[in-house]
Amino acid sequence: MLILVTNDDGVRSHGLRALASVLSELGDVYVVAPDRNRSAVGHALTLDHPLRAEEIKPQVFAVSGTPTDCVNLGIHGLLPRKPDLVVSGINCGTNLGDDISYSGTVCAALEATLMGLPSFAVSLDTTRFTSENLAPATTFSKKLVTMVLKNGLPEGTFLNVNVPCGPCSQVLLTKQGKRHYGESVVTKEDPRGRKYYWIGGSEVGFEDIPGSDCNALQQDAISVTPLRTNMTNELTYNDFKSWSLDTMLDLD
Ligand code: MN
Repeated sequence: MLILVTNDDGVRSHGLRALASVLSELGDVYVVAPDRNRSAVGHALTLDHPLRAEEIKPQVFAVSGTPTDCVNLGIHGLLPRKPDLVVSGINCGTNLGDDISYSGTVCAALEATLMGLPSFAVSLDTTRFTSENLAPATTFSKKLVTMVLKNGLPEGTFLNVNVPCGPCSQVLLTKQGKRHYGESVVTKEDPRGRKYYWIGGSEVGFEDIPGSDCNALQQDAISVTPLRTNMTNELTYNDFKSWSLDTMLDLD
């Protein structure tokens, strides 16, 4: 079995190394990951300049691009054949609710799924990895790889996994929740009197939605959310029929 491991925290991340190490007990692991931290680049693909991939250790590649670039390069260029599975993580920090669309970790799994491969993303609720806090996430990832390979994943579906820091109470099947980001732009002045801005302030919380990924982590549960590549909103699709979009065709 061939497994591609990637992340968005960069090839030197302890989370990535711990994940690759535990998954190597199941099969042949290739690591293709950004050469530096590329968190929050979402699903970005590099098209305006060439990419470099340096094999820093056997089967470990540092790429001068995004997590999505890494999945593409791994599958189309660096791996000896198509992998059986792509795992992204272990991310330093959760990817819950609205984080998903910003997350390079989650979007690497999205990219693999778009390429027709089973995939999941794993994130740990911590700001600093230790071998102790990584252990539940690595063990769960290993079990989930076995489960995914046994059952397969429905077409266009991948999993977003979040693991609490410390003892885990249970494993919950969840739905994407809703984050509150609060005051998210900090404005300051540089030493030459020019303003600068910093996006991403303190997180103030999340909506209390039973069954959501955010709630699961609050309960010290491992959260597993099935996500889809197709973003069509089936629930509201019919509501838009009353807009009679075709009447907008007269564009003169
Ligand atoms: Mn990250």
